[in-house]
Amino acid sequence: MSQLFGCCRVVFNDALAYCQEQHRAGNKKPSSNELSKRLTELKKTEEKQWLTEVSSVPLQQSLRDLEQAYSNFFKSCKGQRKGKKVKPPKFKKRKSKQSARFMDNGFKLYPNSDYIHLAKIGDIRVIWSRELPAVPSSATLIKDSANRYFVSFVVEFNPQQLPKNEQSVGIDLGITDFATLSNGEKIKSSKPLKKQLKRLRKLQQNLSREQNGSKRREVTRKKLAKLHAKISDTRNDFLHKLSTKIIRENQTIVLEDLNVSGMMKNRKLARAISDLGWQYFRTMLEAKSVMYGRDFRIIDRWTPTSQTCSCCGFKGGKKELNVREWICLNCGTFHDRDVNAAINILVAGGLSETLNGRGEKVRLSAKKAHLGEASTLPAFKQLSIFDLLK
Ligand SMILES: [Zn+2]
Repeated sequence: MSQLFGCCRVVFNDALAYCQEQHRAGNKKPSSNELSKRLTELKKTEEKQWLTEVSSVPLQQSLRDLEQAYSNFFKSCKGQRKGKKVKPPKFKKRKSKQSARFMDNGFKLYPNSDYIHLAKIGDIRVIWSRELPAVPSSATLIKDSANRYFVSFVVEFNPQQLPKNEQSVGIDLGITDFATLSNGEKIKSSKPLKKQLKRLRKLQQNLSREQNGSKRREVTRKKLAKLHAKISDTRNDFLHKLSTKIIRENQTIVLEDLNVSGMMKNRKLARAISDLGWQYFRTMLEAKSVMYGRDFRIIDRWTPTSQTCSCCGFKGGKKELNVREWICLNCGTFHDRDVNAAINILVAGGLSETLNGRGEKVRLSAKKAHLGEASTLPAFKQLSIFDLLK
């Protein structure tokens, strides 16, 4: 497997170097055909003859990956791609995550077996995380930076839409409680990072002190990678369970638009927020709503959800963050700050109505959530803000 990873990396980096060379010489980017031909030639040379020792399928796929990376970059430059600006492809490093993709001619599954067959590697034992819902079109072998091995399959399937129900929920995201629901339920946040922060700092310190290229540094690097993997696993598990529960129980889900990237600039809040995973949570809710036929809405971040009384609509003015409870001056209702905000979020979602101070009906506007490239599961990874922590 490491030989295969090495070969994929060499093929990718070699093709990238060639593209860069052509660019510097003022030529157009080589076509995929040209790169493919180059690979065939390369295999014939004595110097790179070892490329023939591994399956040719993943090597071709490495070239495809490079093509994709370039196409994303060009589209982003021309403004044809939504989201953050994409940078040009970078060289792959030996110590970061490694992967090799087999198309259906490069792998084989056995019925009811714990083994899969990979071309020129042989049968390897796997632990299935779940049953495959359909015949996969590709299998990707992955080794992450914590030295864990995975096989990831691409399958096409139609998710079963959940039976419709009448429930709707507004969700207020916070720091003390991760989420407060409009029905009054509060969900404590799992803060894996905070718990492990001390160990993380210590390891990072050790790493910076140790000599580059030393054995000891490699040991620390692995330890650090393992800790990061553990932290993100705990967090993702928490977020997946919570988002699935909310999607199962409610037909309509309303969330406040959060300016996470703006908040990330505030360094004090940044670690807390990235640890909480608000952005990732939103992405999950959005994707799962599409999969299971739920209605997901985002309300404007400027809606004064924490200032308005959810009973009478009276605007009580801005409240400091430390004010956790308040009593409405107009109708005398006792409010928990977050529950009141969650109810207002639900109301602003245009689902239920509230009365304002003069007894008139108020309806705040909601825009339907945008579904960009976040609608498929693999995209979760790309959008994750935790990558910033790595
Ligand atoms: Zn009131």
